[in-house]
Amino acid sequence: MKRRIRLRVIPEPDPDTRSVFEKLIGAPDSVFFAGGETTDAYVCGQCETPLIVGLQLTQFQNLVLRCSQCGKHNETLTAGPVRRTQSAKQARRRHR
Ligand SMILES: [Zn+2]
Repeated sequence: MKRRIRLRVIPEPDPDTRSVFEKLIGAPDSVFFAGGETTDAYVCGQCETPLIVGLQLTQFQNLVLRCSQCGKHNETLTAGPVRRTQSAKQARRRHR
């Protein structure tokens, strides 16, 4: 069964703070990563364009994908439960 999972749209991150993947606006192929491991599709939280298809999201922690269709930034970290934005700082401190 195919599932479509919406990624969380975030504000544009500051340069050098996150790994941002982007394609040219209007590029014909919207998918950043594709594989055959699963039938799930991770889609833009704004316009539901597929961004990651057939791969486990666990491989893409902490990436930001800029949707080529609507230009929104989608975070791969929080496809599951929505976290509050300030939790990123707390998580980093906990890992030290
Ligand atoms: Zn989009």
